[in-house]
Amino acid sequence: MERIVCKHAHPPIVKEEIWDEVNKNREVRAEASAFFREKPALKTGVTMLKDLIYCNECGKKMTIRKDNKLKLFTIKKCEYVNDRGEKCSNAGVKLEHVERNVMLHLKKYRVKLKQTLESLNTQEDLITEEGHKDRLKRIEEEIKKVEEKKCHLIDLALTGIFTHAELKEKRQELMDNLAYLKEQHENLLTEVNNRKSEDMHEQLEGTLSKIKTIEESKNHPEELNQALKLIIKKVYYSRVLPKNIAVKSTRSEIRKNYPYELKIEFY
Ligand SMILES: [Zn+2]
Repeated sequence: MERIVCKHAHPPIVKEEIWDEVNKNREVRAEASAFFREKPALKTGVTMLKDLIYCNECGKKMTIRKDNKLKLFTIKKCEYVNDRGEKCSNAGVKLEHVERNVMLHLKKYRVKLKQTLESLNTQEDLITEEGHKDRLKRIEEEIKKVEEKKCHLIDLALTGIFTHAELKEKRQELMDNLAYLKEQHENLLTEVNNRKSEDMHEQLEGTLSKIKTIEESKNHPEELNQALKLIIKKVYYSRVLPKNIAVKSTRSEIRKNYPYELKIEFY
């Protein structure tokens, strides 16, 4: 015989703290990381990308060096040697190219963030979050009532007033109702969680204002470096010359102009 299990399942509660926590952590992480990766740059002075460039081939941090003869900065060829004695093949490049490129990436990133912000604004005419929460609460109360009714079915069955068929029908009715309510609850919950737009709004605005600071401190490498570290986690740099080009003289134009690739990891 089928048993009616009497359990008051508590519907999940909306955890807005989680969202706040995650975003707070992001900021803290960026700041902590900026603090820990600081290394004195006595020889080179602070450049815009100090401590930010990583080798895309082996993952090691790349060295920025001042070339006194040429009076310019370069990203040094990666010097990592793995356990099998193989040298990393990532070649160096003049730093200024990479700096310009990072700024370009940043510009694109800013445009993307602005678009996201605008699309958020168009969603704002939806019902307020408060309204959502009230509805959630009402549905939760209804679910509780239906669950209780389900439990009382056992008492009803014991009284012997209703036939088995009638009880079965009542039970089905309650089950359908419950399924409907739970679906409603689920949908609403998804909506509420998607509607964290206000927090996202704030976060996007924050990043955008940081990018603005970066663009304004163009001529102050040290400030620029600090500001960049708040939004960029790592810049992955890759410039692996094919063998036929690597054997050419360092003065070869083809070798000198061989392109590099950047991938930027933002916070
Ligand atoms: Zn490497």
